[in-house]
Amino acid sequence: MPSNVLNAPVGPSTARAGTSSRSDSAANLRAAVIESFRRHRLSLQNVDWVVLTWMVAMHAGFLAAPFFFTWQAVGVALFLHWLTCSVGICLGYHRCLSHGSFKLAAPVRFFCTLCGVLAGQGSPLTWSAVHRLHHGRSDKVGDPHSPRDGVFWSHILWLFNRHSSQQRDMLYRSYAPDLSKDPLLRFFEQTYMLWLIAFAGAMFAVGGWPLLLWAVCARIVVAYHTTWLINSASHLWGYRSYATTDDSRNLWWAGLLAYGEGWHNNHHAWPRLACYGHRWWEFDITWQAIKLLRALGLATNVDDRIPAPGARSHQ
Ligand SMILES: [Zn+2]
Ligand SMILES: [Zn+2]
Repeated sequence: MPSNVLNAPVGPSTARAGTSSRSDSAANLRAAVIESFRRHRLSLQNVDWVVLTWMVAMHAGFLAAPFFFTWQAVGVALFLHWLTCSVGICLGYHRCLSHGSFKLAAPVRFFCTLCGVLAGQGSPLTWSAVHRLHHGRSDKVGDPHSPRDGVFWSHILWLFNRHSSQQRDMLYRSYAPDLSKDPLLRFFEQTYMLWLIAFAGAMFAVGGWPLLLWAVCARIVVAYHTTWLINSASHLWGYRSYATTDDSRNLWWAGLLAYGEGWHNNHHAWPRLACYGHRWWEFDITWQAIKLLRALGLATNVDDRIPAPGARSHQ
């Protein structure tokens, strides 16, 4: 038996040793997760071909859509853009799941999460865990999509870095241990692609090529780029209301295009706040939907403590 075991102290200091080895392994886990998102890992050997093929197919559908133009298809696409992007991604995935800015009644939570799934931006667990990593490492080494690694990297290229199932599991354990236990999110984790395929099939059955190309491909592609502008443009251009430690900025046109998410410096400064527009002209349409749900009793525990001008950030 090694002497260090025989001489090992007992009692409280042993407990401290246990705590410190647990925090060491948590730190190692986070370091491995951060490494898996680094730009230098993207090479031909490490391309996520599923994501790349999906992106090429969606963009090809987007380019073909004008040749199948009908007003009905465009109208459905615009409505679904708001529903999946504002209600699904901004309200559901981002403010409710990732940041816990409010609680939703169970049927509404299911509906909003499903709308997010139909945006095709990844499962709720993946989206939320990656987003929390972004907040944790914003514009530092390990930020999955910082423009400091290149504008195109932050806008789209970062998506093509392939992650093994083991790396995905480490991501969830580090950044979404709470959400990973949620039965609803585990259900969507198992069925994510089925919803998208079934929805595309339903659109084709109802409205043929015009509805498939407009309400699925064009709608998803436009929502991709408006969402991605928050990762790229809103960390590059615009004004800063708060002295955060990252490069986040408030960009009015991204604010309008991305349903309120473009007031990104406000959000980085006060991540848990449900309202992203802090001044009267910073219009946030997703916040209007949250207020409506609160008035109907469907959203509770809403964090609406908009800070006074000049307040220090909570980052
Ligand atoms: Zn950001
Ligand atoms: Zn956020």
